[in-house]
Amino acid sequence: MEYFDRIIVGGGAAGFFTAINIAENNRSLKVLILERGKDVLNKVRISGGGRCNVTHAEFTPAELVRKYPRGSKELRGPFHKFMTGETIGWFEQRGVSLKTEEDGRMFPVTDSSETIIECFRKQCAKLNIEVRTGETLKRFYSEENQWKIETSGAAYNCEKLMLATGSNSKIWNLLENSGHSIVDAVPSLFTFNSKDDRIKDLPGIALDAELEIPEARLSSDGPLLITHWGFSGPAILKLSAWGARALHELQYKFSVKVNWIPGENELSIIETLKDLKQEHSRQQVYKRSQFDLPKRLWHSLVLASGISQDSKWADLNKQQLSKLGGQLTAAVFQVNGKSTFKEEFVTAGGIDLKEIDFKTFESKIHPNLYFAGEILNIDAITGGFNFQNAWTGGFLAAQAMS
Ligand SMILES: Cc1cc2nc3c(=O)[nH]c(=O)nc-3n(C[C@H](O)[C@H](O)[C@H](O)COP(=O)(O)OP(=O)(O)OC[C@H]3O[C@@H](n4cnc5c(N)ncnc54)[C@H](O)[C@@H]3O)c2cc1C
Repeated sequence: MEYFDRIIVGGGAAGFFTAINIAENNRSLKVLILERGKDVLNKVRISGGGRCNVTHAEFTPAELVRKYPRGSKELRGPFHKFMTGETIGWFEQRGVSLKTEEDGRMFPVTDSSETIIECFRKQCAKLNIEVRTGETLKRFYSEENQWKIETSGAAYNCEKLMLATGSNSKIWNLLENSGHSIVDAVPSLFTFNSKDDRIKDLPGIALDAELEIPEARLSSDGPLLITHWGFSGPAILKLSAWGARALHELQYKFSVKVNWIPGENELSIIETLKDLKQEHSRQQVYKRSQFDLPKRLWHSLVLASGISQDSKWADLNKQQLSKLGGQLTAAVFQVNGKSTFKEEFVTAGGIDLKEIDFKTFESKIHPNLYFAGEILNIDAITGGFNFQNAWTGGFLAAQAMS
């Protein structure tokens, strides 16, 4: 059995960040990372389309926590100690500059996730952190104030242990057997499948919209993208993250109400349509798009309201005006199933947050056992927030572990 002072299981974002910070805090500690795969940091490599969306330019803890459907209450304290500004500074001090995109997402200026991986590798080499791949954690237990660890090929012991194994159900099962509670995992970031004549010819159209899922009492707003299979875009991903559990219970069959003209409602828009009828009485309704809507979308909504292509504004009766008002501000689409968002599998679920001390990210059940990253029941909407959770947890756990 080989001894290390600190062992981190999981060579992902949270595992590396923890190991490096431990070794920097206390150079005399022998630190080991154990990774089951052939290579480490695989998710970092593919993250953000190969660019790694490291964090998000949100600098107020109270605002940042609002991006976490699970974990918002618990992360408030930790974010007061380590959040976006600290993340930017941490990488800057180690030679990695980040830049901010228009929507707030932050990436390395190189636009390459390899820059982050290279930074971690360099720090590990400098700090003599050992990284062993092809080692799958099979069993762990505490004996005489030490953690004993059995992997697929070896046995280790250590004083303090971190599990940063992401969403691995086998580790959750081991933890459940050791007395921890696990919240069942369900997908969190996904897009909506909807086969509907109104959108079948509109893939690629993107616009701001207000959305509502009445069955789950959820609403959101922001950019909406029409795809070949239904709906995507930030407004949908927000609904999928906040509604992860409720939509799972509905077996991903529900209706989504779309208001294509944010800030307006059915009554106000009908009044505007009546004005248009007066002003443009001789014009064809179909021909000229109103409310800055993309032309193809306007065409589709006009036809869906029972208005023919050659109808003039003057021809519209009360019922047609009201139908068009409905299509513009409260168009209901049936969703039947979901699709993965750009291969970005993020799950809701994991170790019950009641069992974690959020000052140190230590287990309240087993002393000297720590967790960070996706293994916890914490997840965020898309935009760099999932990594920020890994950095914050890793940093605070490292302080306690060193
Ligand atoms: C395609 C994709 C793109 C993404 N893009 C972004 C983005 O741009 N920005 C963002 O904020 N978030 C992004 N995410 C989410 C983000 O990658 C995760 O939230 C983050 O990687 C979680 O880090 P982690 O260290 O907790 O887990 P992981 O990165 O999953 O690392 C866990 C590690 O533990 C290892 N492991 C598991 N079980 C064992 C075991 N039994 N023994 C030993 N090792 C084990 C795994 O092999 C893995 O290497 C993306 C996710 C995906 C899938």
